[in-house]
Amino acid sequence: MNLQHLTNNILRMDSKRAASQENRATTLLLHHIKEVDRRRLYSDWKFTSLFDWCVKDLGLCEGSAHLRITAARLLADMPELEEKIDQGILSLSHISQVNQFCRENKIKDLEEKKNILGQIENLTKKETDKKLFGISGVEKPGRETKKRISDKKTKVSYILSDETLEALDEVKKLLGKQISSDELMKLMIASLKEKVEKEKFKQTSNPKRSKGTKVTGRIISAEVKRKVYLRDKKCVSCGSQHRLNFDHAKPYALGGTNTIENIRLLCFHCNQRASMKMGLGRKVTSSG
Ligand SMILES: [Zn+2]
Repeated sequence: MNLQHLTNNILRMDSKRAASQENRATTLLLHHIKEVDRRRLYSDWKFTSLFDWCVKDLGLCEGSAHLRITAARLLADMPELEEKIDQGILSLSHISQVNQFCRENKIKDLEEKKNILGQIENLTKKETDKKLFGISGVEKPGRETKKRISDKKTKVSYILSDETLEALDEVKKLLGKQISSDELMKLMIASLKEKVEKEKFKQTSNPKRSKGTKVTGRIISAEVKRKVYLRDKKCVSCGSQHRLNFDHAKPYALGGTNTIENIRLLCFHCNQRASMKMGLGRKVTSSG
């Protein structure tokens, strides 16, 4: 089909007509699917399910079949949907989003579903998500989902506040280049690791020697912390890398010194055990 001869205005009007015909064709198909479903004809025609019929007989792709069956069944309950789909006020993806939302939130009442659909008319997918999130009124932390998508990759989804999202966008802008989520996450982890190592274990690319200032009491100098961390890297007792503390092998209270030889890394639990063995109450030397 060659449309090069059309004037701009006619091209625009024709496009609108084609879009409206497409919406009309969609509702027409939904009615047919609904009726086949009602008569359970797909089993007479030797298909295992309505979905199976849509894919194998109508030639719809799986996602498209799923969307249309969902909408057809909703149309059976809500005839007024037809007009809204025809006019493009609601799309099949709106319906699918609301359907999923109702399933997740155990909303079965038809009036409630109608009310929700009424609130998302003409909204974009993103706006719809936001609206639905507002309706549920429940923030669900920990609704992070993970899906293994290949040998080496997992798709993870997080729920972030607007504030965090804006900050994230700002960082992306500062980096000044297109960056994949994986690369961004690697950068964030590396910088967080550096920050923790620096704060807690006094790691630095530019170490200063102690200037002979006498460090008194049980306080361990940054230089000793740095060297002990580089030497041990993990709990010297169990190998754990969680909740590490600097510990006096010979307790400070028993005359142990703050030297590299006497300081070691222990995890919280091993530290507790060590102090119990020594019969000391609180022994945590420094958690950084
Ligand atoms: Zn340990």
